[in-house]
This record gives sequence, structure tokens and C-alpha cells, in this order.
Amino acid sequence: MGKVTGFKEFERQDEAYTPVKDRVKHYKEFTVSLSESEITKQGSRCMDCGIPFCHSGCPLGNLIPDFNHMVHQGEWQKASWILHSTNNFPEFTGRLCPAPCEKSCVLGIIEDPVSIENIEKNIVERAFKEGWIKPQPPKTRTGKTIAIVGSGPAGLAAAQQLNRAGHTVTVFERDDEIGGLLRYGIPNFKLEKEIIDRRIAILEAEGISFKVNVNVGVNYDVKELKTFDAVVLCGGATERRSLPTPGIDADGVVQAMDFLTQQTKVVFGKEVKDQVLATNKDVIVIGGGDTGSDCIGTSNRQGAKSVTNFEIMPKPPGHRSPTTPWPFWPLQLKTSSSHEEGVERNWLINTKEFVTDTNGKLTALKTVNVEWKMVPGERPQLIEVEGTEKAWPCDLALLALGFTGPESTLADQLGIEKDARSNYKAEYGKYQTNIPNIFTAGDMRRGQSLIVWAISEGREAARQVDIYLMGKSDLASKDMSGDLVAL
Ligand SMILES: Cc1cc2nc3c(=O)[nH]c(=O)nc-3n(C[C@H](O)[C@H](O)[C@H](O)COP(=O)(O)OP(=O)(O)OC[C@H]3O[C@@H](n4cnc5c(N)ncnc54)[C@H](O)[C@@H]3O)c2cc1C
Ligand code: SF4
Repeated sequence: MGKVTGFKEFERQDEAYTPVKDRVKHYKEFTVSLSESEITKQGSRCMDCGIPFCHSGCPLGNLIPDFNHMVHQGEWQKASWILHSTNNFPEFTGRLCPAPCEKSCVLGIIEDPVSIENIEKNIVERAFKEGWIKPQPPKTRTGKTIAIVGSGPAGLAAAQQLNRAGHTVTVFERDDEIGGLLRYGIPNFKLEKEIIDRRIAILEAEGISFKVNVNVGVNYDVKELKTFDAVVLCGGATERRSLPTPGIDADGVVQAMDFLTQQTKVVFGKEVKDQVLATNKDVIVIGGGDTGSDCIGTSNRQGAKSVTNFEIMPKPPGHRSPTTPWPFWPLQLKTSSSHEEGVERNWLINTKEFVTDTNGKLTALKTVNVEWKMVPGERPQLIEVEGTEKAWPCDLALLALGFTGPESTLADQLGIEKDARSNYKAEYGKYQTNIPNIFTAGDMRRGQSLIVWAISEGREAARQVDIYLMGKSDLASKDMSGDLVAL
């Protein structure tokens, strides 16, 4: 609840970024932290609004007014306890969450909302610095064994919760490092990978076993999963979307995830053969979401000659649209730090052809401007605008078009039903598939989404697994007022 008059006394302050000319020279995070006294002022802007909407805006149900109040009081350790009672990994959400909580903050109706996400980051960073975040191995073990497939935020949250309930947890990951998209999707300049390692060290000390380079269903027989009492599938939604466009196979048309993963591996000195580089190239990033933005930031760091972005949808309004009133998540233009580093953004544009030279090397993109025709009761129709054809010089086209859903290997081999969108089928809130001891959570169940949702689903699925195995659970659900396991 902060200070009764805090929101009248203090304006919102956000972290600054180091200048563009400096930060594009490296792959480290580039935020400039606020001082402790400024953060306590920011906490005091939480205005005791009576019925807070922020924590229902947060998919984890974070107890936001409570930790804001503790920060305002200088009670950082208590703030950390409150924060960790609903969120296993605030160091990820405090950096990367789009913060739907802030869009539903009551103060946001009349002024800038409370800077909840940044307060969250400061609480967890302070807690790590002070040594308050310590491994909490369970006092007793249940003798039950659990396999978790996939080590993204959903798998990690499920693992920590189930381990704390006393079960013996093994996490299988096909990559060479733990973290899912946190590790190899999101660039190091948005999330330094030491932040993941710091948390994994805690999980290992709590007793969780991690097995990397294990691709379940490929180099590890799914029959082996039968030796576990329960399984949680958290394999993400990694099936990449492509385009049915002539020339798509050209040398120089590259999937965004390949481009981003390679760069992160290079940052950490791993061997990458024939790295795709944007250096001195005219780069076009197709797709305007988070992945597209990350490709723009990476291209600028690699020294691209030019960076252009295409988005097939219309440019969103600069302010909240009347179709998404408070407290809903707004349809609104997003300008990321990567956009600020240099890009020409284009909306309502469709790629018609990837043009190549005689060696099959990409030289240009042919495009046409489009409009969306809305007919009530029908799917929106894409209409090409006559006379708007254009050729754009391009040596590297990055496909940042999102993901169509999870890969089907595990579903096919285990006999898991899928839903109409090809996601692994399990009812929201239950997380149980058609095979009673197999559960699923995160992007694999809900489709491409957010870190905060992955953590939320991992936690909730863990509780359902615990109930399935033990008949009851002491693990908190987001409908409760906090976790029973304190920091
Ligand atoms: C480039 C990019 C940027 C993003 N930026 C943001 C952001 O800023 N903020 C945000 O909130 N969200 C962001 N997201 C989305 C977010 O990363 C995902 O929603 C989240 O990571 C999903 O978590 P998950 O645990 O469900 O799956 P994932 O993180 O995808 O993890 C799944 C893991 O399962 C492993 N796996 C799959 N199959 C197997 C198998 N058979 N055997 C073993 N392992 C397997 C995969 O290798 C992977 O490591 C971004 C996504 C991308 C691609
Ligand atoms: S996890 Fe995201 S939505 Fe929840 S409080 Fe933090 S920033 Fe807000």
C-alpha cells in the first residue's frame, strides 16, 4: 500500500539505458539501476487503492501491494519473502515480463502506473546480494520420482515446487545448457546467462538432478519415462513458422531462432560452424514481435549496414485503444530498447518473393502493401494494395514469425492427445493429459506465450502432480494467499 500521499508526491521513474552508441558494442545488459532511495519512493507510489487489480493482472498472482509496501518501509527481506511466495524466478520476470500488472494498476487510470516490474527486479537482486536466497532442500523425501522434460521456465518452476514437496525430480533437457528459451532464445543483452546459472545452482543444491543433451524420444527412449511415478512435459512450442513464399529456400533466408541461438553460443565461446552474421549486410527482419525485436538488437550489435522490419499487421495506436480499456492488456505500439538502437519499421507489408542471384544467394525482397478487410462473422481478409510493389535490397532476411506449436515427437510416441491448435491437450488448472500420470505445462500446453505464464503453469501443474501422487498438497496455488514454503 506504500504511502498514502506517495503517488501525489513522486513521479514514476524507470531504469535508464546506457547510450545506444556504447551498448551496441557489447552483449551485456545495459540498464542503469535506480538508487535505493528512489526505489523506496517508487514503492511508496502504490496508493492503497482498496481493490487492487494488479495482482489479478499478474498470471502468478504476485502480492504486489504487499511487496511495494515493504520496499517503501525499507523491509527488503520481507519484500523478498512475499515476492518469492508466488514467483520462483522474479529475476526473469523482473527483467523480461511485459508487466500486465502495470497495465491494470489503478493508479494507471489517471497517471503513470507503479513501476512494479522494476521494483520486483530490485527486490530479488537485493536478496541475492544479501545472501537471503538460499537452497531449501526438503526435510523429508516422499520416495516418489518425477521426470520433467524441458528446462524452460515452466519446467524449472515445476521442478522446484515438486522438489520442495519432497519428491525426487530429474529434469531432462536436449540442449547443452539448462534454461529453454531463456538460455538460447532471449539474447544475453536482455538476460545475462549468469542470472540463469545463479538460480540453477540453487535448484541443484536443493537436490534437483539436471540431465542435459538428453532428447527424450530421440536419444532417450520414452519407455524409460515409465520408471517415474509422474512426468511433466514442458517442451515448449518450438515448431517454427515459415512462409509459403517463392525463394524461401534462398541462401540468406534464416530462421530467427538459429540466428539468435548462434550468437548467444558465440558470446559464451561455444563453437558455431558458419555463423550467420548481419555484419555489413542489409538485413530485413520479418515479424514484429519480441523475437523480431531481439533480431534487430543482435543485427545492430553485429554491425549490420541497415536494419528494416516488416510487420503484416497495422501499426497499433500510440495510446491504449478503446477496444482494450483499463484494466485489460492494451493493444498499443511497443517500442523496445532494440528498436531504439536503429531500425526502419514498416507495417501492413507482405513479402511476395525472396529474389536471388544465379548462385541462389538472396539479393532482394519483393513486397506489396496490404490492407485488412473486416467482414463481421468472417475471418479478416488480406487485400493487396494495387501499385505498391517494391523491391528492397537485402542480403539477410530473418524469419521472426513465431511458432506454430509444440513438436509432435513426444505426443506421437507417448500417445498424448493434442488440441485443435496442436498443443498438448490438458485442461487449464488441471494440467493432466489423457495419460493419468503425464502432465503438461507452459508453451507446450498453451502455445507460444510468456515467461510469467510458463512459471505460473509450472507451479500450478506441480500442485496437481502432488495431489495426484499424495492425495493432497501443501504447495500453494495462485488462488491462495501465498506459498507455504518461505524464503
Ligand atoms: C526470441 C524470443 C524472445 C522472447 N522474449 C520474451 C520476453 O521478453 N518476455 C517474455 O515473457 N517471453 C518472451 N519470450 C517467450 C518465452 O521465452 C516463452 O514463452 C517461455 O520460455 C516458455 O517457457 P517453457 O518452459 O514453456 O518453454 P521453453 O522455454 O521453450 O523451454 C522448453 C525446453 O524444452 C526442451 N525440450 C523440448 N523437447 C524436448 C525433448 N523431447 N527432450 C528434452 N528437452 C526438450 C527445449 O530444448 C527447451 O529447452 C520470447 C521467446 C522468444 C523465442
Ligand atoms: S511477474 Fe510480470 S505481471 Fe507479475 S508482477 Fe511481475 S512484472 Fe507484473
